Amino acid sequence: MNVEKSKIEFQRAQKSIPGGVNSPVRAFKSVNCDPLVIEKAKGSTIEDIDGNQYTDFVSSWGPLIIGHAHPDILAAIYEAASKGTSFGAPTHYETLMAEKIISMVPSIEKVRMVNSGTEATMSAIRLARGYTNRELIVKFAGNYHGHGDSFLIKAGSGAITLGLPDSPGVTKGVAVDTLIADYNNLESVEKLFAERKNQISAIIVEPVAGNMGVVLPKEGFLQGLRDICTREGALLIFDEVITGFRLAPGGAQEFHGVYPDITTLGKIIGGGLPVGAYGGSKEIMDQLAPIGPVYQAGTLSGNHLAMAAGLAMLDNLTKTEGLYAELERKSAFVENGIKNNLKKTGVSAVLNRVGSMMTLFFTENKKVTSFNEAMTSDSNRYAKYFKLSLESGIYLAPSQYECLFISYAHTDEDLQKLINANLNALKQL
Ligand SMILES: *Cc1c(COP(=O)(O)O)cnc(C)c1O
Repeated sequence: MNVEKSKIEFQRAQKSIPGGVNSPVRAFKSVNCDPLVIEKAKGSTIEDIDGNQYTDFVSSWGPLIIGHAHPDILAAIYEAASKGTSFGAPTHYETLMAEKIISMVPSIEKVRMVNSGTEATMSAIRLARGYTNRELIVKFAGNYHGHGDSFLIKAGSGAITLGLPDSPGVTKGVAVDTLIADYNNLESVEKLFAERKNQISAIIVEPVAGNMGVVLPKEGFLQGLRDICTREGALLIFDEVITGFRLAPGGAQEFHGVYPDITTLGKIIGGGLPVGAYGGSKEIMDQLAPIGPVYQAGTLSGNHLAMAAGLAMLDNLTKTEGLYAELERKSAFVENGIKNNLKKTGVSAVLNRVGSMMTLFFTENKKVTSFNEAMTSDSNRYAKYFKLSLESGIYLAPSQYECLFISYAHTDEDLQKLINANLNALKQL
Protein backbone atom coordinates (compact mmCIF):
# COMPACT_ATOMS: atom_id res chain seq x y z
CA MET A 1 0.00 0.00 0.00
CA ASN A 2 1.64 3.21 -1.15
CA VAL A 3 0.54 6.24 0.86
CA GLU A 4 3.30 8.63 -0.20
CA LYS A 5 0.97 11.40 -1.39
CA SER A 6 -1.08 11.23 1.81
CA LYS A 7 2.11 11.59 3.87
CA ILE A 8 3.28 14.61 1.89
CA GLU A 9 -0.12 16.26 2.03
CA PHE A 10 -0.43 15.70 5.77
CA GLN A 11 3.01 17.20 6.39
CA ARG A 12 1.98 20.21 4.36
CA ALA A 13 -1.35 20.52 6.21
CA GLN A 14 0.37 20.45 9.60
CA LYS A 15 2.11 23.73 8.75
CA SER A 16 -1.12 25.63 8.28
CA ILE A 17 -3.77 23.71 10.26
CA PRO A 18 -3.34 22.79 13.96
CA GLY A 19 -2.32 19.13 13.93
CA GLY A 20 -3.09 19.07 10.21
CA VAL A 21 -6.78 18.38 10.84
CA ASN A 22 -10.02 20.24 11.41
CA SER A 23 -11.26 17.70 13.96
CA PRO A 24 -8.83 15.90 16.30
CA VAL A 25 -10.01 12.29 15.89
CA ARG A 26 -9.10 12.44 12.21
CA ALA A 27 -5.41 12.71 13.04
CA PHE A 28 -5.08 8.92 13.70
CA LYS A 29 -3.10 9.72 16.86
CA SER A 30 -4.52 6.89 18.92
CA VAL A 31 -3.57 4.36 16.24
CA ASN A 32 -0.06 5.80 15.94
CA CYS A 33 0.02 6.55 12.23
CA ASP A 34 -0.62 9.31 9.73
CA PRO A 35 -4.14 9.80 8.40
CA LEU A 36 -5.09 9.00 4.83
CA VAL A 37 -5.98 12.05 2.79
CA ILE A 38 -9.18 11.29 0.92
CA GLU A 39 -9.83 12.11 -2.72
CA LYS A 40 -13.34 10.77 -3.25
CA ALA A 41 -15.88 8.12 -2.33
CA LYS A 42 -18.86 6.32 -3.83
CA GLY A 43 -21.28 3.88 -2.23
CA SER A 44 -19.29 1.81 0.27
CA THR A 45 -15.86 2.63 -1.17
CA ILE A 46 -13.53 5.45 -0.20
CA GLU A 47 -10.35 6.35 -2.13
CA ASP A 48 -7.27 8.19 -0.92
CA ILE A 49 -5.12 10.58 -2.97
CA ASP A 50 -2.67 7.77 -3.75
CA GLY A 51 -5.52 5.90 -5.46
CA ASN A 52 -5.88 3.19 -2.78
CA GLN A 53 -9.44 2.03 -2.30
CA TYR A 54 -10.96 0.87 0.97
CA THR A 55 -14.33 -0.42 2.07
CA ASP A 56 -15.48 2.33 4.40
CA PHE A 57 -16.96 1.54 7.82
CA VAL A 58 -16.57 5.06 9.23
CA SER A 59 -19.31 6.59 7.05
CA SER A 60 -18.09 10.12 7.82
CA TRP A 61 -18.58 9.16 11.52
CA GLY A 62 -22.20 8.17 10.99
CA PRO A 63 -24.04 10.41 8.54
CA LEU A 64 -23.73 8.26 5.42
CA ILE A 65 -26.26 5.55 6.25
CA ILE A 66 -27.10 5.06 2.56
CA GLY A 67 -23.49 5.31 1.38
CA HIS A 68 -21.28 7.96 -0.19
CA ALA A 69 -22.39 10.24 -3.01
CA HIS A 70 -25.90 8.83 -3.14
CA PRO A 71 -27.54 9.93 -6.41
CA ASP A 72 -30.73 11.22 -4.68
CA ILE A 73 -28.73 13.44 -2.37
CA LEU A 74 -26.42 14.72 -5.10
CA ALA A 75 -29.39 15.54 -7.32
CA ALA A 76 -31.08 17.46 -4.50
CA ILE A 77 -27.92 19.46 -3.80
CA TYR A 78 -27.38 20.30 -7.48
CA GLU A 79 -30.96 21.43 -7.86
CA ALA A 80 -30.88 23.60 -4.73
CA ALA A 81 -27.46 25.06 -5.60
CA SER A 82 -28.69 26.17 -9.01
CA LYS A 83 -30.92 28.65 -7.16
CA GLY A 84 -28.18 30.02 -4.87
CA THR A 85 -26.46 28.83 -1.71
CA SER A 86 -28.01 30.79 1.16
CA PHE A 87 -30.47 33.64 1.60
CA GLY A 88 -30.64 34.23 5.36
CA ALA A 89 -34.41 34.29 4.93
CA PRO A 90 -37.18 31.70 5.27
CA THR A 91 -37.44 29.09 2.51
CA HIS A 92 -39.94 26.38 1.59
CA TYR A 93 -37.27 23.70 2.18
CA GLU A 94 -37.12 24.58 5.88
CA THR A 95 -40.82 24.02 6.41
CA LEU A 96 -40.65 20.73 4.53
CA MET A 97 -37.68 19.65 6.63
CA ALA A 98 -39.41 20.53 9.90
CA GLU A 99 -42.58 18.69 8.83
CA LYS A 100 -40.52 15.67 7.81
CA ILE A 101 -38.66 15.49 11.14
CA ILE A 102 -41.91 15.87 13.10
CA SER A 103 -43.48 13.07 11.08
CA MET A 104 -40.55 10.76 11.88
CA VAL A 105 -39.46 11.48 15.46
CA PRO A 106 -42.24 10.65 17.95
CA SER A 107 -41.52 13.25 20.67
CA ILE A 108 -40.91 16.24 18.37
CA GLU A 109 -43.77 18.69 17.75
CA LYS A 110 -41.60 21.64 16.76
CA VAL A 111 -37.98 21.76 15.67
CA ARG A 112 -35.20 24.32 15.17
CA MET A 113 -32.42 23.73 12.63
CA VAL A 114 -28.76 24.48 13.42
CA ASN A 115 -25.43 23.69 11.75
CA SER A 116 -23.91 20.88 13.83
CA GLY A 117 -24.59 18.42 16.61
CA THR A 118 -22.56 20.61 18.96
CA GLU A 119 -24.83 23.56 18.31
CA ALA A 120 -27.89 21.39 18.85
CA THR A 121 -26.79 20.16 22.29
CA MET A 122 -25.54 23.58 23.45
CA SER A 123 -28.86 25.11 22.47
CA ALA A 124 -30.86 22.27 24.00
CA ILE A 125 -29.38 22.76 27.47
CA ARG A 126 -29.85 26.52 27.26
CA LEU A 127 -33.47 25.89 26.42
CA ALA A 128 -33.82 23.37 29.27
CA ARG A 129 -32.29 25.85 31.71
CA GLY A 130 -34.50 28.65 30.47
CA TYR A 131 -37.62 26.51 30.61
CA THR A 132 -37.04 25.05 34.10
CA ASN A 133 -35.34 28.13 35.54
CA ARG A 134 -32.66 25.83 37.02
CA GLU A 135 -28.93 25.80 36.28
CA LEU A 136 -27.41 22.35 36.70
CA ILE A 137 -27.26 19.55 34.14
CA VAL A 138 -26.48 15.88 34.54
CA LYS A 139 -24.39 14.09 31.94
CA PHE A 140 -22.84 10.63 31.89
CA ALA A 141 -19.14 9.78 31.98
CA GLY A 142 -18.08 8.71 28.49
CA ASN A 143 -21.05 10.31 26.72
CA TYR A 144 -20.08 12.89 24.12
CA HIS A 145 -22.33 15.79 23.25
CA GLY A 146 -20.10 17.87 21.01
CA HIS A 147 -17.41 20.28 22.14
CA GLY A 148 -19.52 22.83 24.02
CA ASP A 149 -17.87 23.89 27.30
CA SER A 150 -20.54 22.31 29.50
CA PHE A 151 -19.98 18.90 27.94
CA LEU A 152 -16.19 18.65 27.89
CA ILE A 153 -16.10 16.79 31.14
CA LYS A 154 -15.59 13.03 30.88
CA ALA A 155 -16.52 13.44 27.27
CA GLY A 156 -15.79 10.17 25.49
CA SER A 157 -13.74 9.17 22.48
CA GLY A 158 -11.84 12.19 21.17
CA ALA A 159 -11.00 13.37 24.67
CA ILE A 160 -10.17 9.90 26.00
CA THR A 161 -7.78 9.04 23.25
CA LEU A 162 -6.03 12.41 23.43
CA GLY A 163 -5.87 12.26 27.22
CA LEU A 164 -7.72 15.53 27.67
CA PRO A 165 -10.61 14.57 29.92
CA ASP A 166 -11.04 18.17 31.01
CA SER A 167 -9.96 20.64 28.38
CA PRO A 168 -8.03 23.75 29.39
CA GLY A 169 -10.15 26.75 28.56
CA VAL A 170 -13.30 25.37 30.17
CA THR A 171 -13.80 27.56 33.22
CA LYS A 172 -14.42 26.17 36.71
CA GLY A 173 -17.61 28.21 36.74
CA VAL A 174 -18.96 26.27 33.77
CA ALA A 175 -17.64 22.90 34.95
CA VAL A 176 -19.39 23.07 38.34
CA ASP A 177 -22.76 23.32 36.61
CA THR A 178 -22.23 19.91 34.97
CA LEU A 179 -22.78 16.92 37.24
CA ILE A 180 -21.43 13.53 36.18
CA ALA A 181 -23.29 10.25 36.63
CA ASP A 182 -22.41 6.69 35.57
CA TYR A 183 -24.04 5.27 32.47
CA ASN A 184 -26.44 2.40 33.20
CA ASN A 185 -26.41 3.32 36.90
CA LEU A 186 -29.68 4.90 38.03
CA GLU A 187 -28.48 5.11 41.63
CA SER A 188 -25.72 7.51 40.63
CA VAL A 189 -28.42 9.73 39.09
CA GLU A 190 -30.74 9.48 42.11
CA LYS A 191 -27.86 10.52 44.34
CA LEU A 192 -27.27 13.71 42.37
CA PHE A 193 -30.95 14.62 42.43
CA ALA A 194 -31.12 13.98 46.19
CA GLU A 195 -28.09 16.23 46.80
CA ARG A 196 -29.30 19.03 44.50
CA LYS A 197 -33.03 19.16 45.09
CA ASN A 198 -34.82 21.47 42.58
CA GLN A 199 -31.55 22.63 41.03
CA ILE A 200 -31.16 20.21 38.12
CA SER A 201 -32.65 21.42 34.84
CA ALA A 202 -31.98 18.38 32.68
CA ILE A 203 -30.38 15.02 32.16
CA ILE A 204 -28.66 14.72 28.79
CA VAL A 205 -27.87 11.20 27.61
CA GLU A 206 -26.88 9.25 24.52
CA PRO A 207 -29.78 6.74 24.56
CA VAL A 208 -27.35 4.25 23.08
CA ALA A 209 -23.81 5.36 23.85
CA GLY A 210 -21.61 5.60 20.77
CA ASN A 211 -18.68 7.68 21.93
CA MET A 212 -17.05 5.29 24.39
CA GLY A 213 -17.55 2.63 21.81
CA VAL A 214 -21.07 1.23 21.52
CA VAL A 215 -22.56 0.66 24.98
CA LEU A 216 -26.19 -0.39 25.15
CA PRO A 217 -28.59 0.96 27.74
CA LYS A 218 -29.51 -1.75 30.23
CA GLU A 219 -33.14 -2.82 30.48
CA GLY A 220 -34.99 -0.13 32.43
CA PHE A 221 -32.19 2.48 32.36
CA LEU A 222 -33.82 4.90 29.91
CA GLN A 223 -37.26 4.46 31.47
CA GLY A 224 -35.66 5.06 34.88
CA LEU A 225 -34.22 8.37 33.65
CA ARG A 226 -37.64 9.28 32.24
CA ASP A 227 -39.27 8.59 35.61
CA ILE A 228 -36.68 10.56 37.58
CA CYS A 229 -37.03 13.59 35.30
CA THR A 230 -40.83 13.52 35.46
CA ARG A 231 -40.80 13.18 39.24
CA GLU A 232 -38.18 15.92 39.78
CA GLY A 233 -39.47 18.43 37.24
CA ALA A 234 -36.32 18.18 35.13
CA LEU A 235 -36.21 17.69 31.36
CA LEU A 236 -34.89 14.56 29.70
CA ILE A 237 -32.71 15.28 26.66
CA PHE A 238 -31.88 12.43 24.30
CA ASP A 239 -28.79 13.23 22.29
CA GLU A 240 -29.70 11.33 19.14
CA VAL A 241 -26.99 12.85 16.97
CA ILE A 242 -25.80 9.31 16.17
CA THR A 243 -28.90 7.21 16.89
CA GLY A 244 -31.40 9.51 15.17
CA PHE A 245 -32.55 7.86 11.92
CA ARG A 246 -29.98 5.07 12.45
CA LEU A 247 -31.70 2.68 14.84
CA ALA A 248 -35.17 3.35 13.45
CA PRO A 249 -36.86 6.14 11.44
CA GLY A 250 -37.72 7.66 14.85
CA GLY A 251 -34.32 6.98 16.42
CA ALA A 252 -33.53 5.35 19.75
CA GLN A 253 -36.72 6.75 21.32
CA GLU A 254 -38.83 4.76 18.89
CA PHE A 255 -36.49 1.76 19.16
CA HIS A 256 -36.65 1.71 22.98
CA GLY A 257 -40.13 3.18 23.47
CA VAL A 258 -38.97 5.89 25.90
CA TYR A 259 -39.66 9.51 25.00
CA PRO A 260 -37.54 12.51 25.95
CA ASP A 261 -38.62 16.14 26.34
CA ILE A 262 -35.97 17.42 23.95
CA THR A 263 -34.16 15.53 21.19
CA THR A 264 -30.92 16.64 19.56
CA LEU A 265 -30.13 15.52 16.03
CA GLY A 266 -27.16 15.78 13.66
CA LYS A 267 -25.04 13.58 11.41
CA ILE A 268 -27.58 11.61 9.26
CA ILE A 269 -30.00 14.56 9.26
CA GLY A 270 -27.68 16.54 6.96
CA GLY A 271 -27.10 13.82 4.38
CA GLY A 272 -23.37 14.61 4.66
CA LEU A 273 -23.71 18.39 4.89
CA PRO A 274 -23.23 20.28 8.17
CA VAL A 275 -26.62 20.18 9.89
CA GLY A 276 -28.03 19.74 13.37
CA ALA A 277 -31.46 20.18 14.93
CA TYR A 278 -33.22 20.12 18.26
CA GLY A 279 -36.88 19.66 18.93
CA GLY A 280 -39.53 18.82 21.49
CA SER A 281 -43.04 19.70 22.56
CA LYS A 282 -44.63 22.93 21.34
CA GLU A 283 -44.68 24.25 24.87
CA ILE A 284 -40.94 23.84 25.36
CA MET A 285 -39.88 24.89 21.85
CA ASP A 286 -42.03 28.03 21.98
CA GLN A 287 -39.71 29.32 24.71
CA LEU A 288 -37.24 30.12 21.89
CA ALA A 289 -36.81 33.58 20.39
CA PRO A 290 -38.50 35.26 18.57
CA ILE A 291 -41.65 34.16 20.43
CA GLY A 292 -39.99 33.20 23.72
CA PRO A 293 -37.16 34.58 25.87
CA VAL A 294 -34.44 31.95 25.20
CA TYR A 295 -32.09 33.27 22.53
CA GLN A 296 -30.56 31.12 19.82
CA ALA A 297 -29.71 32.07 16.24
CA GLY A 298 -27.65 31.16 13.16
CA THR A 299 -26.71 33.01 9.98
CA LEU A 300 -26.61 29.83 7.90
CA SER A 301 -29.09 27.76 9.94
CA GLY A 302 -31.56 25.96 7.72
CA ASN A 303 -29.81 27.10 4.56
CA HIS A 304 -31.48 25.49 1.63
CA LEU A 305 -28.50 23.47 0.35
CA ALA A 306 -28.27 21.62 3.64
CA MET A 307 -32.06 21.30 3.87
CA ALA A 308 -32.23 19.84 0.36
CA ALA A 309 -29.56 17.26 1.16
CA GLY A 310 -31.17 16.38 4.49
CA LEU A 311 -34.63 16.08 3.02
CA ALA A 312 -33.38 13.81 0.26
CA MET A 313 -31.76 11.65 2.94
CA LEU A 314 -34.85 11.44 5.14
CA ASP A 315 -37.12 10.84 2.13
CA ASN A 316 -34.87 8.02 1.06
CA LEU A 317 -34.99 6.46 4.54
CA THR A 318 -38.79 6.56 4.65
CA LYS A 319 -39.46 5.43 1.09
CA THR A 320 -36.96 2.54 0.89
CA GLU A 321 -39.01 -0.52 1.75
CA GLY A 322 -37.42 -2.68 4.47
CA LEU A 323 -34.33 -0.51 4.85
CA TYR A 324 -33.98 -0.95 8.61
CA ALA A 325 -34.64 -4.70 8.43
CA GLU A 326 -31.93 -4.97 5.78
CA LEU A 327 -29.48 -2.95 7.90
CA GLU A 328 -30.24 -5.30 10.79
CA ARG A 329 -29.65 -8.37 8.59
CA LYS A 330 -26.33 -7.04 7.30
CA SER A 331 -25.19 -6.02 10.77
CA ALA A 332 -26.16 -9.33 12.39
CA PHE A 333 -24.19 -11.09 9.64
CA VAL A 334 -21.10 -9.07 10.58
CA GLU A 335 -21.65 -9.64 14.29
CA ASN A 336 -21.91 -13.41 13.81
CA GLY A 337 -18.87 -13.47 11.55
CA ILE A 338 -16.71 -11.57 14.01
CA LYS A 339 -17.93 -13.58 16.99
CA ASN A 340 -17.05 -16.81 15.14
CA ASN A 341 -13.61 -15.41 14.39
CA LEU A 342 -13.08 -14.61 18.06
CA LYS A 343 -13.96 -18.20 18.96
CA LYS A 344 -11.64 -19.60 16.27
CA THR A 345 -8.68 -17.47 17.30
CA GLY A 346 -9.25 -17.34 21.05
CA VAL A 347 -8.68 -13.57 21.11
CA SER A 348 -10.52 -12.06 24.06
CA ALA A 349 -12.76 -9.21 23.01
CA VAL A 350 -16.36 -8.03 23.43
CA LEU A 351 -18.54 -7.09 20.48
CA ASN A 352 -21.33 -4.68 21.38
CA ARG A 353 -23.94 -4.05 18.71
CA VAL A 354 -27.30 -2.43 18.34
CA GLY A 355 -28.76 -2.13 14.85
CA SER A 356 -26.11 -0.93 12.41
CA MET A 357 -23.65 0.38 14.99
CA MET A 358 -21.10 -1.79 16.77
CA THR A 359 -17.74 -1.77 18.55
CA LEU A 360 -15.20 -4.52 19.06
CA PHE A 361 -13.57 -3.89 22.45
CA PHE A 362 -10.21 -5.57 22.99
CA THR A 363 -10.71 -6.32 26.66
CA GLU A 364 -10.37 -9.29 29.01
CA ASN A 365 -13.73 -8.26 30.53
CA LYS A 366 -16.71 -10.45 29.68
CA LYS A 367 -18.97 -7.44 29.02
CA VAL A 368 -18.83 -3.70 28.44
CA THR A 369 -21.76 -1.84 29.99
CA SER A 370 -20.10 1.26 31.44
CA PHE A 371 -17.37 3.81 30.89
CA ASN A 372 -15.07 2.03 33.36
CA GLU A 373 -15.55 -1.29 31.62
CA ALA A 374 -14.92 0.33 28.23
CA MET A 375 -11.71 1.76 29.67
CA THR A 376 -10.35 -1.75 30.33
CA SER A 377 -9.78 -2.04 26.57
CA ASP A 378 -6.30 -2.29 25.14
CA SER A 379 -5.87 0.67 22.77
CA ASN A 380 -2.50 -0.57 21.53
CA ARG A 381 -4.06 -3.83 20.49
CA TYR A 382 -6.77 -1.88 18.67
CA ALA A 383 -4.10 0.21 16.92
CA LYS A 384 -2.48 -2.96 15.61
CA TYR A 385 -5.86 -4.35 14.57
CA PHE A 386 -6.69 -1.08 12.83
CA LYS A 387 -3.48 -1.11 10.76
CA LEU A 388 -3.86 -4.76 9.77
CA SER A 389 -7.45 -4.05 8.68
CA LEU A 390 -6.34 -1.07 6.64
CA GLU A 391 -3.78 -3.23 4.85
CA SER A 392 -6.66 -5.57 3.93
CA GLY A 393 -8.56 -2.65 2.42
CA ILE A 394 -10.87 -2.04 5.39
CA TYR A 395 -11.22 1.52 6.66
CA LEU A 396 -12.22 1.49 10.35
CA ALA A 397 -12.52 4.33 12.84
CA PRO A 398 -9.03 5.26 14.06
CA SER A 399 -9.91 4.77 17.73
CA GLN A 400 -10.97 1.94 20.04
CA TYR A 401 -13.80 4.12 21.37
CA GLU A 402 -15.78 4.71 18.19
CA CYS A 403 -18.45 2.87 16.23
CA LEU A 404 -18.26 0.73 13.17
CA PHE A 405 -21.19 1.76 10.99
CA ILE A 406 -22.91 -0.51 8.47
CA SER A 407 -24.61 1.34 5.65
CA TYR A 408 -27.28 0.32 3.20
CA ALA A 409 -24.62 0.60 0.47
CA HIS A 410 -22.51 -2.23 1.93
CA THR A 411 -22.91 -5.32 -0.21
CA ASP A 412 -22.70 -8.84 1.15
CA GLU A 413 -19.26 -9.07 -0.49
CA ASP A 414 -18.16 -5.94 1.41
CA LEU A 415 -19.29 -7.52 4.65
CA GLN A 416 -17.59 -10.85 3.90
CA LYS A 417 -14.42 -8.89 3.11
CA LEU A 418 -14.70 -7.23 6.54
CA ILE A 419 -15.14 -10.60 8.27
CA ASN A 420 -12.19 -12.11 6.39
CA ALA A 421 -9.99 -9.12 7.21
CA ASN A 422 -11.07 -9.39 10.84
CA LEU A 423 -10.01 -13.07 10.99
CA ASN A 424 -6.71 -12.29 9.33
CA ALA A 425 -6.01 -9.44 11.78
CA LEU A 426 -7.09 -11.39 14.88
CA LYS A 427 -4.67 -14.19 13.93
CA GLN A 428 -1.80 -11.70 13.92
CA LEU A 429 -2.54 -9.86 17.17
C1 LIG B 1 -21.00 13.70 16.84
C2 LIG B 1 -21.81 13.91 18.06
C3 LIG B 1 -22.11 15.20 18.53
C4 LIG B 1 -21.50 16.44 17.93
O1 LIG B 1 -21.90 16.66 16.63
P1 LIG B 1 -20.98 17.60 15.69
O2 LIG B 1 -21.77 17.73 14.44
O3 LIG B 1 -19.68 16.88 15.55
O4 LIG B 1 -20.82 18.89 16.39
C5 LIG B 1 -22.98 15.31 19.59
N1 LIG B 1 -23.51 14.25 20.17
C6 LIG B 1 -23.23 12.98 19.78
C7 LIG B 1 -23.89 11.83 20.45
C8 LIG B 1 -22.35 12.79 18.73
O5 LIG B 1 -22.02 11.54 18.36
